Amino acid sequence: MEFGMNINLNYKKSKDNYLFVEINERVKKFRQTHSDLHILNLGVGDVTLPMDKKLVKVMTDALNDQATEKFKGYPPETGYDFLKTAICRYYKKLGVDISNEDVFVSNGAGCDVGNILNLFSFSTAVIADPTYPAYYDSNILCGNEVILLPLTKQNGYKMVIDGLEEKSYLIYICSPNNPTGATMTHDDLKKWVYFANKTSSIILFDNAYQSFIEDHCPKSIYLVEGAKTCAIEIASFSKSAGFTNLRCGYTIVPKELQREGQSLNAMWNKRQCTFFNGVPYHIQKGAEFALSDEGEKICQKNINYYKQNAKILKSCFKGMQFLSSSNSPYIWLKIPAKFTSWQYFEYLLNEYNIVCVPGSGFGKFGEGYVRFSAFAKREDILLAKQRLAT
Ligand code: PLP
Repeated sequence: MEFGMNINLNYKKSKDNYLFVEINERVKKFRQTHSDLHILNLGVGDVTLPMDKKLVKVMTDALNDQATEKFKGYPPETGYDFLKTAICRYYKKLGVDISNEDVFVSNGAGCDVGNILNLFSFSTAVIADPTYPAYYDSNILCGNEVILLPLTKQNGYKMVIDGLEEKSYLIYICSPNNPTGATMTHDDLKKWVYFANKTSSIILFDNAYQSFIEDHCPKSIYLVEGAKTCAIEIASFSKSAGFTNLRCGYTIVPKELQREGQSLNAMWNKRQCTFFNGVPYHIQKGAEFALSDEGEKICQKNINYYKQNAKILKSCFKGMQFLSSSNSPYIWLKIPAKFTSWQYFEYLLNEYNIVCVPGSGFGKFGEGYVRFSAFAKREDILLAKQRLAT
């Protein structure tokens, strides 16, 4: 029989279980026989603090508009101008000039990280190992080739170009990195921007943790000269303003970014207007407020809380080798050689009732490590400290 339809068999190549589904299943199984225990979840990187009341009021007021003459129908697919303007203002403060047309408001970085592949036909992706699993998985599902660059102690857990053939690639850079926490300096990024422009590659710069950066590392790749002709920046309100449930992020595709005579900005506009119907008005109002001077101060309080959690967590691992820059909500712990990372996960769960993420879930070079998240409640972090001290 002749087929007029073919399913995407690349799905068969991807692993069955998403990392966090596997972790949840193991924890659920453990709970079935230990229902009386208080399990401390320092695994998943999800925020736990309630939102500030003022931020929620801005959104409820905007939602209440729907019951008035101010009622809104479909939102603009690429975002309301008020939010795009607030995003441009935020970048201006960083020292970056972008315009509203460069900004595409989305329902989160996770979606855009996958959807952006829609702009490319068969490509070779250059991805760090260990890494945020969506980069690898989305490329496998598209049938792309993947080159993995190991992040090791020797290279400071950062992606380095050495040995990479001069070809055009899709290059994923996450800074501060999930899971290692390593942050790219201006010089690190400069090398990648030079390489990308020289080879007609495109850098996909995942900026999900930019609000945690407290040193001189760049909070946007566009602070590096030449980045507008080779980089797309993907950002999110999830970790900076606690929007993991509400869903709002944005992608910047500069108009200067052209490949094969095509404007990537025009292509992404077409893609979003075809496949996406926009983020709700009241959510965008909340995001706008989060970027205001008052909103930034409010959001910073929660970020500081998580940063303090990270400091407390670090103090639990004295004498052990771990990586945690002050720019990251994650701690990347080297585990004793006798354990695999899943064995260490089970050990921590059974002996201390603490959940972490096995490093191998982030890639082959994550083996021998586990990741702790500082996004937990303070009382759980303190309890973890107490338990680990015994
Ligand atoms: N990118 C990285 C590196 C992440 O760690 C995460 C979430 O943990 C995301 C993107 C997804 O962010 P969002 O909640 O905006 O989809």
